[in-house]
Amino acid sequence: MNSIVGHKSQIENIRKTLEAKMMPHAFLFTGPEGIGKKSVALEILKSFTCVKTKGSTIGYCETCAGCVKFEGSSHPDLFFIQPDGTQIKIPQIRELQSKLIYHPLEANQKMVLIDDAHKMNEEAANALLKTLEEPPEFTHFILISAMPHRLLPTIRSRCRQIAFSPLKDEDVAKYLIKNCALEEKKASHIARLAGGSIGNAISFDPAFVSGVLERFTAVSNKSSTADILELSETWGKEDTDKTRFILDFLSVLHRDMMMYLITGKKTDLVNEEAVKGASFRSVERIDKNLDEIFAARASLEFNSNKQLMFENLLFTLTS
Ligand SMILES: [Zn+2]
Repeated sequence: MNSIVGHKSQIENIRKTLEAKMMPHAFLFTGPEGIGKKSVALEILKSFTCVKTKGSTIGYCETCAGCVKFEGSSHPDLFFIQPDGTQIKIPQIRELQSKLIYHPLEANQKMVLIDDAHKMNEEAANALLKTLEEPPEFTHFILISAMPHRLLPTIRSRCRQIAFSPLKDEDVAKYLIKNCALEEKKASHIARLAGGSIGNAISFDPAFVSGVLERFTAVSNKSSTADILELSETWGKEDTDKTRFILDFLSVLHRDMMMYLITGKKTDLVNEEAVKGASFRSVERIDKNLDEIFAARASLEFNSNKQLMFENLLFTLTS
């Protein structure tokens, strides 16, 4: 379990379940995106494919035929379902069902991992429900979802739910230092922005992060129309993930300004640079700016003209 960051109590809970031979027919792993739910699920799958441990605990040998096939994604008793486009569709569930009628070929159990389970469309969900209601022998399911409220309640009630929490900033920072070769200061800065998600953290390019701060600070200080138009054009060309990041970054920056104005303390700020921004803004002003940023963030999915969105936003934020 070396590769897993955090989630100690959840993993301990699962380990005890396996050691007591009480593996449920279906687990449902819930919690925000990018925090490692799937990594934990894969550890369980691998533990079941290892011919030495056979799912008797969380652990595996790395060398047996089962472990080698797991790593080569060629184990015949493992089944992975994920959205085909934006949805998990009925043919995917039907195909799965047709394979679950046979005994496992090499492992003691067949293991099914359904990622983004809330993306099952209605037909697919109803089909899966039938399988969960009369689970085939020698088969376990792990459903993963960041939005479990979108699952059929009847599916949820058939699963043992394990809730995963966002990681601590220190855990995310440690991961970044170890796996992304970031220096400590940069790693903790990015970790604080990532909101407990390694997925978020590794998608942040440190140069991009500091670029966003620099450019916003520059237009705030000078507030020239030409600069704002130019920056809106640049940011308007970024992909949706980066656009979302820019907006989240601006909201964190404004929250920091607010915190600093209210508490006068720098210690809990994500960006110490917020102190400068706070020096020429009032609490009411920052509050209004935050509303504008949240509105832009909420409209992002439907907003085809990002350049115009940034123009409106930046003129408001810097006026
Ligand atoms: Zn093994």
